[in-house]
Amino acid sequence: SEETMIRSEKLALIGQLAAGIAHDIRNPLTSLKGFVQLLKYKNTDYVDIMMEELEHINYVVNEFMTLAKPHLSYYIACRAKELVQSVISFLQPHALLHNVQIQVEMDQEIPVITCIPDQIKQVLINVLKNAIESMDGGGLIQISCRNQFNRNLIISVKDQGVGISEERLAQLGEPFYTTKANGTGLGIMVCKRIVEGHGGTFSIQSELHQGTTVEIALPIGKTREYVTNKDHQDEGS
Ligand code: ADP
Ligand code: MG
Repeated sequence: SEETMIRSEKLALIGQLAAGIAHDIRNPLTSLKGFVQLLKYKNTDYVDIMMEELEHINYVVNEFMTLAKPHLSYYIACRAKELVQSVISFLQPHALLHNVQIQVEMDQEIPVITCIPDQIKQVLINVLKNAIESMDGGGLIQISCRNQFNRNLIISVKDQGVGISEERLAQLGEPFYTTKANGTGLGIMVCKRIVEGHGGTFSIQSELHQGTTVEIALPIGKTREYVTNKDHQDEGS
């Protein structure tokens, strides 16, 4: 069936990803082991570094899990406004730490959307983290939520960061494409898969040294009937 095809496609992708992910997990683990050994000298500064490495492992594994088990989650009606706000609150301490201010502008009528809330949260976290990481000395992130003709919810995230050149923009979404020393290069790929899985679109506009705008469009309304059917099939198998 179509479901089986999708599943085997997913498995093939996971196979391809596994080697790279194992590599990604091994580096922080090696570093972690080294620092744990140094703990016998009782210098607690190392604990901070250990925590950072652990967070990185956690992040990689979370992204991997999102790819591996999307069929275990289900779609529910969800207040988009609250979802966006909860992600911003969650990342506020991280933003402050990097001297980044987050501004939000919402339309009066932000609709209820049918989505897998944890996945949409994951998308927003990935996008906001990228925005924060793009601004070395800090800066401003502008988020806007618009109701487009009661057809799409448009969430846009604009930063004032380093920007992305045209050649690099074309490479985004390829697994393991990263310009960061500690990057996974999985964030944008995961975002695209999730948003497209919701019947939406994920697009990036950028100008080098000016900043980047990510636009997430999620359908409002009846596109979701198809998703509901798919979910019922999943429950049965
Ligand atoms: P990672 O953040 O782990 O590198 P991503 O898939 O999230 O992986 O992003 C891939 C690459 O895309 C980043 O390494 C960076 O070069 C570029 N990028 C993503 N978002 C932004 C942004 N807001 N500003 C500048 N570059 C970005
Ligand atoms: Mg990222």
